[in-house]
Amino acid sequence: MRTRFAPSPTGPLHLGHAYSAILAHDMARAAGGAFLLRMEDTDLERSKPEWAALIVEDLTWLGLTWDGPVHRQSDHIESYNARLETLADRGLLYPCACTRGDIRAALAAPQEGVAHAVYPGTCRARPMADRQPGDALRLNLGRALALLDPATLTFTETGPADAGTHRVDPATARTTIGDIVLGRKGEGIVAYFLASAFDDADQGITHVIRGEDLFDFTPIQVILQHLFGLPTPIYHHHRLIRDEAGKRLAKRDDARAIAKYRAEGASPADIRRMVGLL
Ligand code: GLU
Repeated sequence: MRTRFAPSPTGPLHLGHAYSAILAHDMARAAGGAFLLRMEDTDLERSKPEWAALIVEDLTWLGLTWDGPVHRQSDHIESYNARLETLADRGLLYPCACTRGDIRAALAAPQEGVAHAVYPGTCRARPMADRQPGDALRLNLGRALALLDPATLTFTETGPADAGTHRVDPATARTTIGDIVLGRKGEGIVAYFLASAFDDADQGITHVIRGEDLFDFTPIQVILQHLFGLPTPIYHHHRLIRDEAGKRLAKRDDARAIAKYRAEGASPADIRRMVGLL
């Protein structure tokens, strides 16, 4: 078993992250497997080295150990882009100039309350030769799906909410995923779920353990895995740690930052107790 914790260093580690990291760590260690740490810092505006450093400090304080050096996505942007471009050679990408703000939001890691709107396909007929600086690169999903055998588009989920084998239905994918943005050339940005899918394969991750807020990205990642000939890991989407009002904790919830509990004298065991792991 090889698991990983893959935070986006855009804020302090809070109880929700701690739960995710401890779960992935403990599952790997219990199985005699490996646990890896990856900084998903391709969002160059929101990611900060200070946050990455604090995350490492907090995880170390929690008593977690990882195998090998920390994998920083910002060190691999060239390689992600080169791989993304191979889809252009296969006629599966097109340039898109629809609202820049929408494109930026589509590329970033998910935030609560930001729904993923299915793109109507306005720029679909544009050839790649037409690409302008700042254009997004969109996947022509219809064409991509036509290349894949629908019977193979499945994944195994072992998390508490949706355990079982899930099928990625092409018709549903067309209406719920659509022509997603995979990157933006020139600014070195690739979509978080694409970089993550490449890394899960490159790092030999067998079990992706992450919050259930990311469940809806799994069908997208399964389609991408098939397009790039990558294996599909087993997925385990865990419950989210919520505040008293039932709201999912976000990076901005500094009140529940691990650093704050540390400063107040909490122990790693206290944190485990707070997230229900002791
Ligand atoms: N970097 C993502 C986040 O912090 C998690 C990605 C994943 O676990 O697949 O939301």
